[in-house]
Amino acid sequence: MSIIKVHDKSFDTYLSEEVIQQRIKEMAAEISRDYAGKRPLFIAILNGSFMFAADLFKHLSINAEICFIKLASYKGMKSSGNVVTSIGLEDDLFGKDVVIVEDIVDTGKTLHNFLPKLLHQQPKSLKIASLLHKPEATEYPLQLDYIGFDIPNKFVVGYGLDYDGLGRNLKEIYQLV
Ligand code: 5GP
Repeated sequence: MSIIKVHDKSFDTYLSEEVIQQRIKEMAAEISRDYAGKRPLFIAILNGSFMFAADLFKHLSINAEICFIKLASYKGMKSSGNVVTSIGLEDDLFGKDVVIVEDIVDTGKTLHNFLPKLLHQQPKSLKIASLLHKPEATEYPLQLDYIGFDIPNKFVVGYGLDYDGLGRNLKEIYQLV
């Protein structure tokens, strides 16, 4: 275990690069099996999911498309949850098999607020893939179809996830000490 500092806080290694990468390969294999013969559209939610989306996408063995959208920002260490709008969703989702790609589902509010906007466009199917999930933090229950890791209700950084802008470049995931 190694302790790192991001801004004023100390974080301890929680998931190693190896463990993360192995799990993502498994998720990609499962998704590839489930979507065999189809051509799903992956919608990755920025900023946090950029690394996960890239690694997941490159391990898919099916034809697939990807786009990146931005919702509300996450300030400090508590989920703000106020999703205002989505930027960058140019594709028409009608009749498409859509897979949402998230870094972490905490209270569930972000996706709870955003899913109706997507469903309004009548995709053929809609599933959610999240690298991390905090079951204890759930306030808005969602059906998560692909989960990388269920984690305790503690703040994490690394592998795309930030603490006030920093920590996204870490290859591992760290938990607040
Ligand atoms: P929710 O709406 O499910 O409560 O929160 C989802 C968003 O909150 C995530 O996409 C992420 O941006 C942020 N978030 C939730 N928990 C954490 C955490 O432990 N660390 C970081 N860096 N962001 C988090």
